[in-house]
Amino acid sequence: MQKNHRPEEEGFTVTPWEVEGDIDYEKLIEDFGTEDLNQDLLDRIEKMVGDTHFMLRRGIFYSHRDLDRILDDHEEGKKFALYTGRGPSGHTHVGHLMPWIFAKWMQDKFDVDLYFQLTDDEKFLFNFDSELEDTYSYAIENAKDIIALGFDPDKTHIFIDTDFIHQLYPLALKVGKRLNFSNVKAVFGFDNSTNVGSIFYTAIQSAPCFLPTELEGEEVPVLIPCGIDQDPHFRLTRDIAETIGYTKPALLHNKLAPSLDGTGKMSASQPKTTIFTTDKPEDVDEKINEAFTGGRISAAEQREKGGDPSICAIQNYRYYIFESDDEKVDSIAERCRKGDILCGECKQLLKENINRFLSEHQERREKAEKMLDDFLVKDCEQEFRS
Ligand code: SF4
Repeated sequence: MQKNHRPEEEGFTVTPWEVEGDIDYEKLIEDFGTEDLNQDLLDRIEKMVGDTHFMLRRGIFYSHRDLDRILDDHEEGKKFALYTGRGPSGHTHVGHLMPWIFAKWMQDKFDVDLYFQLTDDEKFLFNFDSELEDTYSYAIENAKDIIALGFDPDKTHIFIDTDFIHQLYPLALKVGKRLNFSNVKAVFGFDNSTNVGSIFYTAIQSAPCFLPTELEGEEVPVLIPCGIDQDPHFRLTRDIAETIGYTKPALLHNKLAPSLDGTGKMSASQPKTTIFTTDKPEDVDEKINEAFTGGRISAAEQREKGGDPSICAIQNYRYYIFESDDEKVDSIAERCRKGDILCGECKQLLKENINRFLSEHQERREKAEKMLDDFLVKDCEQEFRS
């Protein structure tokens, strides 16, 4: 049985709801039973679309399930669709943008539809103190961030679960009937105190895997770019897909953007060490000033011995999200190791990058408010929203 991680076993935890500790990504491939995104596959993508993405080149997307099958099908002229999502527990942070930016690249390069699920029900069920009105309202806020990234409105279908449940529910029922409690419990670590909504929820997250096939009336398998922490949901979906007459979803997993304090994953529940898309320049400056670095105790020592970019949150932010130019990333790392740049100057460069990005993003986000109807698909309207 493939497993999840518990801190006492491995020194880190990765589940769809909890990520803690220093993640051993190779161990996750082994334990989750996924495959390495090897150079042959990367070369194949580059040959097919005439380009690559820095997140592929740098191994930020590093693992997959059945990507080769999707590429085979595409070469034969068969369709596929992208599916990804977000649990709206708060405002979007820049770590969330990673798979979305990548999904946009995939949409542009492969000319495919994207189905984007906003799981207001999930965040309501798994956080005992949350209210459905709040998770719904965050779903709308998160949708503005998705739209602001420039997705094609004709090919992008964003849905909030409680607004689209008529379409999702029959598919979720088919999945729910085939999943048994012992498997769900083993994969997610549920116990007798888990609410029954949470136990069923994975069926709702599985439903969009089969939605393009239903909507288009022909087989349209999905490829899911997502954080490796979301793999357990789809492992269960894959186990039952063929038994209900659908193709298994394929996945492309990214590593998780690290937090500014140098430990664990960037998380909305740690606002001081996480940069949100709604942050003002002064918020960004303050958070970057406080970030963990690989610098020395004094400027003199750093000039003499150099810093360590490999453990530095500032350099990680650059590497994971804010600098697509490999030469620039490598050049700063080199200057850091030689003591030719100090942390103050280095942080300033990153602040400028982030604030430039956020200022443009926030402008597009404001315009996105008026474009919500072009992107959001609904099949019902709930009373609590009126
Ligand atoms: Fe990190 Fe930059 Fe300081 Fe090096 S100079 S330790 S990369 S902040």
